[in-house]
Amino acid sequence: MKAAVLYANEDIRYADWETPVCGDNEVKVRVRATGICGSDVPRVLHNGAHFYPVVLGHEFSGDVVETGKNVTKIKVGDTVSGAPLLPCMECVDCKKGDYSLCKHYSFIGSRQQGSFADYVVIPEVNAVRYDSRVPYEQAAMFEPSTVALHGLLHAGYNGGGTVAVLGLGTIGIFTLQWAKILGAEKTIAFDIDDSRLNLAKRMGADEVINTLKPDFMNQAADMTAGRGFDAVFEAAGSPVTMKMAFALAGNKATLCFIGTPHTDMTFTPAEWENLNRKEFTLTGSWMSYSAPFPGREWELTAEKFGTGELKFDPSFIYRKFPMSEAADAFALYKNPSQVHGKIMLINE
Ligand SMILES: [Zn+2]
Ligand SMILES: [Zn+2]
Repeated sequence: MKAAVLYANEDIRYADWETPVCGDNEVKVRVRATGICGSDVPRVLHNGAHFYPVVLGHEFSGDVVETGKNVTKIKVGDTVSGAPLLPCMECVDCKKGDYSLCKHYSFIGSRQQGSFADYVVIPEVNAVRYDSRVPYEQAAMFEPSTVALHGLLHAGYNGGGTVAVLGLGTIGIFTLQWAKILGAEKTIAFDIDDSRLNLAKRMGADEVINTLKPDFMNQAADMTAGRGFDAVFEAAGSPVTMKMAFALAGNKATLCFIGTPHTDMTFTPAEWENLNRKEFTLTGSWMSYSAPFPGREWELTAEKFGTGELKFDPSFIYRKFPMSEAADAFALYKNPSQVHGKIMLINE
């Protein structure tokens, strides 16, 4: 078969590669669409690969073309999306079903052969079947939806109340949609970019607030009759939005940081004291897995993309390249500020 093989740093080439063999508990997937993840960029451009040569790629969809002899649920011809984590299933965290927290995991497309190829072989449990009417490019983007939903579920959000979503990247947009689907009374989306706020409106936000406006906190207070929000989800990973989450929370609110920090952060005593005065519950979330593996996050994403309740916007995808042009696709990341959204590699 052909694959986009990483032979050395900055040396990714479309080449012949041994076709993976399907084991007894595995399925072989003809890859149709596979996204380039932010985590793939350092692997290709900044010496971040575990070894060479390697076939990367862990966000993918395609058609099942072969199943191992112990495989019972997945059939040849099914369309599946890949859940890339391979937890050890033995450690204390795995035994509790907290697969995202496993420290002994393997991973498709970094520690073993991934989806930048004609075929990828994965355990049956990692293959998430979905309605074949969902386009391949959309099905290759289950992960951001599962990350968003994991944040809501982990925070114990069960619907109702006023929900604030801070930061409207792809994960923020899915967080907003899941809050609605789970039954939020009112969802309010916050960002600094009007085009993202407009997208949030199209995706069902009840109200949107541009946080560059000087009076935005008053505007937000009006939307909750001064009580603050019942649930706040931070999806930007910025100190500004993390502090904003503390300020927007209402008494006894639920806060979840889905975004991960990239810089130091300081709070004034008054900012931090929000946590005491409001007695809110703060947690963070990591990845997107739960029991039974890979979890409700993946099953519900497949289901709601199938029904159309979970909406996909073409703007999530920045550009598509044939797999044979993977090197050109990665070259765009030498100037990452020009990449707005997912780059998708396609096998026709
Ligand atoms: Zn990824
Ligand atoms: Zn484990």
